[in-house]
Amino acid sequence: MKRENSLKAYEEAVRYIAGGVNSPVRALRSVNESPLFIKKAHGTVLTDVDDNRFSDFCLSWGVFILGHAHPQVEKATRKALPNGTSYGIPSLPETELAKLINRYVPSMEKIRFVNSGTEAVMSAVRLARGFTKRDLIVKFDGCYHGHADHLLVSAGSGVANLACSSSAGVPEGFTAYTVSLPFNNKEAVESLFRERAGEIAAVIVEPVPANMGVVLPENDFLLHLRKLTSRYQSLLVFDEVITGFRLSLGGAQSRFGIIPDLTTLGKIIGGGFPAAAFGGRADIMALLAPDGPVYQAGTLSGNPVAMSAGAETIRMLSSEDFHTNLEQKATLFFSELSDSIAGKGITMNGIGSMFTLFFTEEVIRSFDDVKQANTDRFSRFFKHMLSNHIYISPSQFETNFLSVAHTEKELMKFIKAVKNFSE
Ligand code: PMP
Repeated sequence: MKRENSLKAYEEAVRYIAGGVNSPVRALRSVNESPLFIKKAHGTVLTDVDDNRFSDFCLSWGVFILGHAHPQVEKATRKALPNGTSYGIPSLPETELAKLINRYVPSMEKIRFVNSGTEAVMSAVRLARGFTKRDLIVKFDGCYHGHADHLLVSAGSGVANLACSSSAGVPEGFTAYTVSLPFNNKEAVESLFRERAGEIAAVIVEPVPANMGVVLPENDFLLHLRKLTSRYQSLLVFDEVITGFRLSLGGAQSRFGIIPDLTTLGKIIGGGFPAAAFGGRADIMALLAPDGPVYQAGTLSGNPVAMSAGAETIRMLSSEDFHTNLEQKATLFFSELSDSIAGKGITMNGIGSMFTLFFTEEVIRSFDDVKQANTDRFSRFFKHMLSNHIYISPSQFETNFLSVAHTEKELMKFIKAVKNFSE
């Protein structure tokens, strides 16, 4: 495969951009590759600067549930552009998207838009602390909630590839109020509440963790979190940056029937533009400035172009049977995929339109299990898929995504490539 232009582009980027990339996993170091530079993406097809075409199963980390550059989303964006791209003053598209989100995720009685998932979580955590007047935040090992200092503790995603469990540059004191517990371990959460209930402002969780690869919540784990947080007047925060509008129109909370106090959203709701949100109970959201004492702000928050792209995306997802159709396709694919990995020392976790192949025979129910995976083998698998013109998420600790744009032929090609993987 020709890679000259990507290599040249990387050399040039490295001279001006730290590490040559604007987000670490894109460097493809954990799979011993050099980065691809993409010049365009349509539907499920990425075209790089060497004119290689790849079938995309990463989809900008779960953003493009409709596929890249969907004509209707593009049209909504084009319509918004000539009106100016940022005002720093309220505009109608903000309320329009907020209304749509509230319709499908009714627990978000009040919403605030921000520019990234990191900001959404950071703000939700500040609000939870302001509301409860408590400091401690409970998270789970392998869950990733963006790169705010106090949440980089046993975090998944790109952090999982670092030698230590957290980032340099975070003073110890900054994480003193964060406790990270094993996912799916009810006893660990219960025992922490028994000892420190009066200190716990919130439990934050990815209801289906996707940043250590897909891990499924067992039985009543999420329900248990709901009951404990309610009993001890702590808040339950669902980080649905990935699962929101993906696991159903109402996200994981609607799929599992568990209503958090606060929710964070990102990815899908920006329609491919930088937008994210946090929101929840009106009595909690009332504490935000200008109504209350918890400060939060943003120059580009509620950007009208991003809001328009997001609203158009959500309108399309709300058409009848969108998720049913996507999941029907996914279920068939998962079943063929399970057959194709039989006897290869690979296990699969999948739900909705998200899946991960783990290079281990362990049943994966926590970050400790994920860590047993053979990352060298994953790296060979990534290269193998790439040589078959398939771009999967480039780390063992990430999730792959399906979109409505994936064709039967592409899915079959994926299965065939997995079958042919013998290393
Ligand atoms: N929370 C979750 C669950 C995420 O998956 C991510 C990013 N993948 C974030 C927060 C942070 O979002 P962003 O990268 O937009 O800051």
